[in-house]
Order: sequence, then C-alpha cells, then structure tokens
Amino acid sequence: ADARRCGERVGVWTTGMAAVKPWELELHAQLRSAIERDELELHYQPMRDATTGRTVGVEALMRWRHPTRGLLPPGSFLPMAERSSLIVELTWWELDEALRQCARWRAEGIPVAVSANLSPRLLVVDELPQVVAERLAAYALPPDILTLEITENALVSQPARAAAMLSELRVSGVKLSMDDFGTGYNSMEILKALTFDEIKIDRSFVADAQGSLPDVAIVRSVVDLGHRLGVRVVGEGIEDEPSERILTELGCDLLQGFAFSPPLPAQDLTPLLTDTTRRDTHHRAVSAASV
Ligand code: C2E
Ligand code: MG
Ligand code: MG
Ligand code: MG
Repeated sequence: ADARRCGERVGVWTTGMAAVKPWELELHAQLRSAIERDELELHYQPMRDATTGRTVGVEALMRWRHPTRGLLPPGSFLPMAERSSLIVELTWWELDEALRQCARWRAEGIPVAVSANLSPRLLVVDELPQVVAERLAAYALPPDILTLEITENALVSQPARAAAMLSELRVSGVKLSMDDFGTGYNSMEILKALTFDEIKIDRSFVADAQGSLPDVAIVRSVVDLGHRLGVRVVGEGIEDEPSERILTELGCDLLQGFAFSPPLPAQDLTPLLTDTTRRDTHHRAVSAASV
C-alpha cells in the first residue's frame, strides 16, 4: 500500500505497480531531483578515424554523481528511468548538455561531432524532432553535427511509429547510428527497412576478433555490408593495440575504446581533443617509428 501511494505520487509508471520495488521508487525519486541538483554528468569518449588517427567525434555517455553512492554508470539508473516518463526529461537534459558542450569545443577550435544515445522510449515521443531542432538552433549547430545512436532492439515494440520518427529525424539532417549491431534478433530486417548513416559493431565481436575466426568473419561481413549500404562502420570497445590493428585491417572506418581513451568529463578530454582533432596522429606515429 505504501509503494502504491508512493507510485501514485510519482504518477508516471508505465508498468504494473507490482513490478516496482520500494528501492526503485526511492532511487527514482532521487533521480528526479538529480537534474535540479545538477548531479548528472555526460562523459565523452573519442571516436577516431581508423586511417588518419584523427578524432572526428565523441560519444556522450551519462553518469550520475550520486550524493552517497558515488559515480553511477547508466546501466544502474537508466533502465529504471526508462520505465517511467522520467527518461523523457533525462533525454532533454542529455541533448541540451551534449550540444552545449559540442558548441563550446567548436568555439575553442576543436571540430568534433557529437553522438548521443537515444532510449527506445523516445521513438514514440512526438516532440523529439522539435526538441532536437530547437537545441541545435540554440547553439547554432548544423544538424549533421549530431548523431543519434539507437540500439536495434529499440525498434521492436512499435516498429511503424519508431520508423516514422527515425525518418523524420533523418530528413531534418541528423545522423542515425545503429548501436550494438549484431546483438538483436532482426538486424537485417531493420537495416532493410530503415536508413542509417552508421553501424556500431557490438563490442562482444570486437573483443573476441583477435583470437576467434567466427568473430573475424562476422566483423569482416558487417564492414562489407555497411560499405555496400554506404554506411560508415564503427568498431567499439577497442581495448588494446592488437584490436586496433585488426579492426583497422578489417576496414572499420572509426574506432572507439579504452585503447584511445575511456569516457571522460569534458574538461579532462579537451587536451586530448586539442591534440587529436587537428593532427594526423598515425602519420606522426609512423614517422616517429621510422626514424
Ligand atoms: P553504448 O552506447 O554501447 O556505449 C558503450 C559502452 O561501452 C559505454 O558504457 C562505454 O563506457 C563502454 N566502453 C567504451 N569503450 C570500452 C572498452 O574499450 N571496453 C569496454 N569493456 N567498454 C567500453 P556505459 O557508459 O556504461 O554505457 C552503457 C550503455 O548505456 C550505453 O551503451 C548506452 O546504451 C547507454 N547509455 C549511456 N549513456 C546514455 C544516455 O545518455 N542516454 C541513453 N538513453 N542511454 C545511454
Ligand atoms: Mg552508444
Ligand atoms: Mg554500443
Ligand atoms: Mg550498449
């Protein structure tokens, strides 16, 4: 009864109350005030061009600096937010923050694009394209500076509405990325039905590509498929130099992972971006090695 009262006060749960645990209600209430209390952060991870080594974009990844639990990863609070309309508020915050930072970097002469993850829930929120357009305009950014990353499983629940939303976004000039490619049930169907600008190969394939023939074959095929569709292919979860070399050899266009940088707060990433967005880091490495 207590949980029910609490739930009514929150008033936004989309799933059966019976499934909501008391600790979730508490965390949910805390998360709701996290925006006002300025406890949310975006950390940014560079995405580099595999050929030139240049950083061309950053992916924004959400963190919650919880007052008692420390820095929480998105997996520990976003799923809960996604069960209520709170995810909508979090997304508006995320888009605003990511674009504001992108504009700040560009003003400092750092020409990075920004990728933001989009919860599946947002694909049925009709205001999304308008909010995206407004935020881009607010920071005087061109739409193609923003890539929205969507996991393929996002498209399962209301495929027609989600598809309409994605094409509206794409027509507006925003780029679309299919995240965690290869982990869903109907990757090929989705690729057939929708137009993406980018495919991110799930890191489970990337991590094993060094030692395993199936993974190498899968990565090679995804790269080939992507290129035939005119889509750029990103290898994520690149943790070391051998992975970097293999994924580059297999033809990935962009690489992302701990090998280059973990996700970092904007101010900590700025020096690295200053260094790697302007210079051709591979050429530098090669000429240093050949001396
Ligand atoms: P994702 O979009 O696939 O993001 C990549 C995840 O892999 C991130 O985890 C990142 O920190 C981690 N990662 C990056 N490089 C490496 C590496 O070399 N090795 C390993 N093992 N991991 C690496 P994170 O930040 O915990 O995010 C998890 C997921 O949460 C994301 O997966 C994304 O689906 C979601 N997410 C993150 N931020 C947001 C957000 O602002 N909004 C929404 N809707 N979802 C978000
Ligand atoms: Mg992502
Ligand atoms: Mg991913
Ligand atoms: Mg993921």
